Amino acid sequence: ELPLARRMARLGTETAFEVLVRARALEAKGKDIVHLEIGEPDFDTPRNVVDAGIDALNKGFTHYGPSAGLPILRQTIAEEVSKTRGVKVTPEEVVVVPGGKPIIFFTMLALADEGDEIIYPNPGFPIYESMINFVGAKAVPIPLREERDFRLDVNELKDLITDRTKMIIINSPQNPTGGVLTKQDIADIADAIGDRDIMVMSDEIYSRLIFEGQHHSIMSLPGMQERTILLDGFSKTWAMTGWRMGFGVMRADLAAHIARLATNSVSCTASFSQMAGVEAIKGDQSSVAAMNKAFLERRDFFIKRVNQIKGFSCRSPHGAFYTFPNITKTGWPSKKLADALLDEAGVAGLSGTAFGSFGEGYLRFSIANSIENIAKALDRIDEWTKHRL
Ligand code: PLP
Repeated sequence: ELPLARRMARLGTETAFEVLVRARALEAKGKDIVHLEIGEPDFDTPRNVVDAGIDALNKGFTHYGPSAGLPILRQTIAEEVSKTRGVKVTPEEVVVVPGGKPIIFFTMLALADEGDEIIYPNPGFPIYESMINFVGAKAVPIPLREERDFRLDVNELKDLITDRTKMIIINSPQNPTGGVLTKQDIADIADAIGDRDIMVMSDEIYSRLIFEGQHHSIMSLPGMQERTILLDGFSKTWAMTGWRMGFGVMRADLAAHIARLATNSVSCTASFSQMAGVEAIKGDQSSVAAMNKAFLERRDFFIKRVNQIKGFSCRSPHGAFYTFPNITKTGWPSKKLADALLDEAGVAGLSGTAFGSFGEGYLRFSIANSIENIAKALDRIDEWTKHRL
């Protein structure tokens, strides 16, 4: 028997990757599948960014770099975050790591002791709960409800805060619901924290993809900058999932500890990726605008069409590239429905429960696919419901 460490029993996963493997297996058997399961832009990385990466490779950015990131990228990010969040950020407060995910992991490792409580959204990005459990902290879910457009209820948050609360994780725009916190929500959350020693991990990886309203960062509120770990990255905005690059912005002393965790694990983020990252932030943004325009069109198309399907009802997500239809009226449990749609209708989506127990009654479909494929998926689901419901 494999002598596995006990902690591995506490490690979760991201179901999207597993569904993708199942979908690929069906494709290998000759089945046609429409992929609406994975959370990554279907677009290629913008040309100017790819060219910057190639140029960096040619110039020898193929070596180890500093664990906290190349100074030029940390400087670029510090300026960008200062501008977009209306705060003053120095390069010492920036850590560049291989994706947003390591920021989640390293932050937990650096801050959470056994027994510490961490409040996180449910439904939410599954890696939060997985990492909280893995480091031995206590995972305290805060439900997000459709009636509130999937924005957390601050009164509930207040009830969940205890003397042991170490951290609160917020995510806006949100995966999987597309919920966007308002300026008032953010102010209320900061109020609920008051002057307690609670850190906030604010996952803002979708902050440049908002359809309605505006992005508000808790970091910009009085007294909150030193309490906030801002998570952001390149995967979504610039379609750079495979370059493996993300960053955290936090007080400089914590940033140094996060960099030490990087030294001990990944060493550093690929140097050529980082040089491409400088171009992504500083260069021409027309590709980003074009992608965002496409996402908006797809969203509107999806919402109109999905609401014509028996048993499905779906609010319009305000940001990010996911839809989260309510399927309770089908009478099917989410997981069973997601499996059946994959096996019988050839549409890969995710059960809402892949994002936590409060995701029961929902499915998540990514709209990071062409209108043509989205139309095909919804036609298939429509057909399927006519025979099976
Ligand atoms: N945070 C959220 C809410 C996400 O949806 C994702 C990716 O799906 C990430 C963080 C991490 O992305 P990456 O590690 O590619 O930067």
